[in-house]
Amino acid sequence: MCSNNEGGLTKFEPKPDLALFRKCLKCDKNSVVVTRINDAMCKECFVEYFTHKFRATIGKSKLFDKDEVVMFPYSSSDSSVAMLHLLFKGVGEEAKKKFTFKTICVYIEDNYVFESNSSTHERITFMENVKKSVEYSGFKFYYSLIENCLEPSKNIVSDEIAKLNLNNENKEKFLNLINSCKNQTSKEELLKRLKTQLINRIAIELKIKKIIFPVSCTNLTIDMLTNVALGKGAHLSIETSLEEKLSNGLVYVRPLRELTSKEIAFYNRYNNIDSNIMAKSSSLKNLPNSTIYRLTEKFINSLQNEYPTTVPTIFRTSDKLTPTDELCPEDSCMLCELPVDTIKKISANSSAINDLEYSLSISRLDNTAIEKLFVLKSVCYSCSVVLKDVGGHGNLPQTIKDKIKSRDNLKDKIKEFLIED
Ligand SMILES: [Zn+2]
Ligand SMILES: [Zn+2]
Repeated sequence: MCSNNEGGLTKFEPKPDLALFRKCLKCDKNSVVVTRINDAMCKECFVEYFTHKFRATIGKSKLFDKDEVVMFPYSSSDSSVAMLHLLFKGVGEEAKKKFTFKTICVYIEDNYVFESNSSTHERITFMENVKKSVEYSGFKFYYSLIENCLEPSKNIVSDEIAKLNLNNENKEKFLNLINSCKNQTSKEELLKRLKTQLINRIAIELKIKKIIFPVSCTNLTIDMLTNVALGKGAHLSIETSLEEKLSNGLVYVRPLRELTSKEIAFYNRYNNIDSNIMAKSSSLKNLPNSTIYRLTEKFINSLQNEYPTTVPTIFRTSDKLTPTDELCPEDSCMLCELPVDTIKKISANSSAINDLEYSLSISRLDNTAIEKLFVLKSVCYSCSVVLKDVGGHGNLPQTIKDKIKSRDNLKDKIKEFLIED
């Protein structure tokens, strides 16, 4: 969902917490890192703790059946690199109890699409380098391109980079859509949602039901506060849970959700895999204060530096939230696929939703406005705010436009907005 952005936009530089001079909690050596739960540990004990935490999250909740195939959208970010290594170790010779599920990885190229000066050749070289960096894992890898979110056909993923449709026309269409957004926040949010939709479609095409996302508790905390600011409050508890069931039958799993980005950075450093991190700091080149996400990220990271309990405290609070019973899973948002929160019964007390409806109802409706209204009535509040900022809905993916057409109750929905003469 929208919260699956792994964040990690600001790379955490692991420096040993040497100033603390504490002994390792487990073996009496000098400690080098203090964990989320304030335990000081040496390098070896820390790697063991980290691996155990990941395995226990998967094992305790019995998330996967034996021989079940799960999809891992790998992005070459720090948390992706760590999770690939954890999964690799989980099926390796050394693992005491091996994972019994099977992993298939998908890499979606979205770093080079925004580089105006980059050639197709450079993009392919970048993907080849990603391929080399993951070969050690032995997992089957598929490849796709972010602009494939506009591709209506099923031909959106391939196990060979050379077979991807790298023509510039698709890239142009995609860039036109993203650049038609009036502000950076909408660009970033639209990009996140389109990427998640593409991941979902790839899972469906590969006939995989469960998708594991490498989101850390730091990412989830930033996502949570960003989502509050973006009007996505109704979905908070759904989007931060360990297991999230979607209306289309897919299930999202977040097994890194109890580990922080600092712990992830140390894990990569101590396993000598930090050279595999190739994701750029931000594919949209967003400056620190340019979007709500980036501002929240800066706010949380600076607070966390001063007060190490910041992330755990906010994260624990989100764990106590429960979704309202009034959200109907079948009535899902076309863009983020979470339950629509703009239904009258739920939104009765929400002034923001009422204001949006009012401003639409008093505007004269020409064809474009009617199309816009169709779209806005089929999405959740937060996605409607994003879509309002998209210049032309004609650029939206065909899959979304098809969904709009297939909604038979739209005419009724729209009637209440028409001004009687
Ligand atoms: Zn130790
Ligand atoms: Zn939505």
